[in-house]
Amino acid sequence: SECQERGLSIYVGLTHHGEEEKSLHIKMSGCHGFCEMGCLVHIEPLGVMYVRVKPEDCHEIVERTLLGGEIIERLTYHQNGVSYPRQEDIPFYKKQHRVVLKGCGASDAEDLEEYIAKDGYRAFEKALFDMTDEAICREISDSGLRGRGGGGFPAGRKWESVRRNVSDVKYIVCNGDEGDPGAFMDRSIMEGNPHSVIEGMMIAGVATGATEGYIYVRAEYPLAVERLQVAIDKATRLGLLGDNIMDSDFSFHMHINRGAGAFVCGEGSALTASIEGKRGMPRTKPPRTVDHGLWGKPTVLNNVETFANVPGILNKGAAWYRSIGTDTSSGTKTFALTGNVVNTGLVEVPMGTTLREIIFDIGGGIQNGKKFKAVQIGGPAGGCLTEEHLDLPLDFDSLKKVGAIVGSGGLVVMDEDTCMVETARFFMHFTQNESCGKCVPCREGTKRMLEILDRIVVNEGSPEDLDLLESLSDTISTTALCGLGQSACKPVLSTLRYFREEYLHHVVDHH
Ligand code: SF4
Repeated sequence: SECQERGLSIYVGLTHHGEEEKSLHIKMSGCHGFCEMGCLVHIEPLGVMYVRVKPEDCHEIVERTLLGGEIIERLTYHQNGVSYPRQEDIPFYKKQHRVVLKGCGASDAEDLEEYIAKDGYRAFEKALFDMTDEAICREISDSGLRGRGGGGFPAGRKWESVRRNVSDVKYIVCNGDEGDPGAFMDRSIMEGNPHSVIEGMMIAGVATGATEGYIYVRAEYPLAVERLQVAIDKATRLGLLGDNIMDSDFSFHMHINRGAGAFVCGEGSALTASIEGKRGMPRTKPPRTVDHGLWGKPTVLNNVETFANVPGILNKGAAWYRSIGTDTSSGTKTFALTGNVVNTGLVEVPMGTTLREIIFDIGGGIQNGKKFKAVQIGGPAGGCLTEEHLDLPLDFDSLKKVGAIVGSGGLVVMDEDTCMVETARFFMHFTQNESCGKCVPCREGTKRMLEILDRIVVNEGSPEDLDLLESLSDTISTTALCGLGQSACKPVLSTLRYFREEYLHHVVDHH
């Protein structure tokens, strides 16, 4: 129960030393992703997964399964009357394709030797000794990797810009701020496989000539901070970080910065300002971060999931990565599946997987047999999708066409009882609260929009309020300084677009 409180998993290894002698090792691993069914017990090499395990079940598991090889039926996952004893057969896992989450839940995040034994830092070694900086950038470009933080900007193009920039100092910055309500993908990667993020950043350092790396993690993620620090310390002790790594002329130093929980600090220029010790506020662009980033120097800024993809791309090749996903959105995407869905949890699927597959096949459908109504994708900067979008492939371009974004990967599922006006109000309240106040359209505009939504929710609005919401949205999205303000109206606009009737039902015609 202590582990569950801290979001930890235990990793138990039973070693046979001949017939009689057996020894147990207990290690900590990251999240298995199947939150709804915790506590989970995953037993290898049997491949068995037990769900909703209680402390009093442990003795029986050891006796019957670990020592006897027998399956305990009552602890297996059941769906529609079918029992699924093996993890790989459980519908929640079956349709997933785990690339960045592969090590989460299956490895001890604090064991550097284990990471190395599983090919860890091999991609970095290859980048350092067998590839030119140009070839690394080309490989990342050829893989089609696009930023997983929300924008979907091609990572290779960003790296190439920094590589070409001539500067005495360059930086690699990892955005681990993850402020979207309902999102915890990056947290799980940092907690479950911190070395994959560090290795990805080091490869970016070799590719661009950067020698310093910063990971910006929200302070509300103490375990992520702790594990990243342990990983950095161990890598430094082993000579993987520091000066003249592996006797080469490449040096790389890593630092962790804890963010104080301001959502706007997920925006690139606010994030770098915060690392510099200034107030976390966005600035006008250009200049772009690749030219004028941290301390005014060329900077690669990618998020946690983007960097975690990099070692796999270098190890297996760009063509392998491109073979997953769609033509314009290659690879996989992690999603935090939350809300009124049966199996809440962390999932990773190939780009282009449909919403139906995620919500109904992986997520097991809607709780309590209710009807699906909508899903909010992309957090407060995203939009809602409805039943008509269930077969839409989830990739950067398809979502853009319907006014939504992949965002960082938050998926909040809503059932038939959810009030969509209240949902829009919730997100507007969040954004308004997080507005840094630097520019008028966002600072004042979101406040006015929230006031309107507040009165509509309690049936005190008027039909003209809907026009006012649309016109304010138009002004704010075209004049706000940063992405927070520019996208603040998206939840309102998309709910107005798909659930206008619901708004009309709320408003009282005073005329
Ligand atoms: Fe700050 Fe909002 Fe303006 Fe962004 S849009 S700079 S968050 S006030």
